Amino acid sequence: LSQRLTVSTAPDEIGRLASMFNDMIGRLDVSFRQIRQFTSDASHELRTPLTVMKGETELVLRRPRPLGDYQSVLESNLEEIDRMTRIVDELLFLSRADMGEVRMEALPVSLESLVEDIYRQATLLGQDRNIAVALGTVQPAVVQGDELRLRELLLNLVENAIKYSHPNGKVEIALVTEGSLARLSVTDQGIGIVPDDLPRIFHRFFRTDGARAHTKKGTGLGLAICTWIAESHKGRIDVTSEPGVGSTFTVTIPLATPSA
Ligand code: ADP
Repeated sequence: LSQRLTVSTAPDEIGRLASMFNDMIGRLDVSFRQIRQFTSDASHELRTPLTVMKGETELVLRRPRPLGDYQSVLESNLEEIDRMTRIVDELLFLSRADMGEVRMEALPVSLESLVEDIYRQATLLGQDRNIAVALGTVQPAVVQGDELRLRELLLNLVENAIKYSHPNGKVEIALVTEGSLARLSVTDQGIGIVPDDLPRIFHRFFRTDGARAHTKKGTGLGLAICTWIAESHKGRIDVTSEPGVGSTFTVTIPLATPSA
């Protein structure tokens, strides 16, 4: 697909057409490369748990063993199956989203009540690893959108904040309005992200080396889904982070206009 038209650079009609054509081919090239990369990443992410499950199962079947050995292999396999199921569910969601097949409500949603709900949920999630979840400033804010999706977005950020925190760390959720915008933020004191990786964490399947070393849990798809949800609300997600100090993820969404 790397064929290009070679035409003189004269600013005539043909010259302009040729340059438009070359530009289009260039963009197609990039898209095809991304699709190939994505397919290869997806296959790899699904192949790894399969290899682990096969290896463990073969090993335990090689000779008779105490019942407990079978039990622990089944438990570990169940964990891998859960992870694969999550990857496949998230992939299905993203592919439906890519094809424009995900239905989105456009109703008034109170972010303030959403934050309070997620805060209660997160408090329980944090308890296991002794991570304190706190509320920062929470101002009233209503946006136009899909409450379930917004809930999923915020929960995902809070789950990440807890997942990438150290035991006894603190996670803070805040909500403020600024002009015509609502700003939701989730701050942690966790492992952080090196500057080079910051733009890449939103790419499908990308996980930092630090995250992989910190936990096996994770699919690398959550932030891609969060970005899709934020953008479907005409919003965006930003991140600031310092390795070893922590990260803040901020979601900015336009407030609902009173007439909307
Ligand atoms: P995952 O399931 O791996 O958490 P995400 O798409 O949610 O996937 O996040 C992608 C990557 O971004 C993570 O693997 C991790 O490297 C990084 N990341 C996300 N949130 C945080 C956080 N709060 N602190 C540090 N790193 C994070």
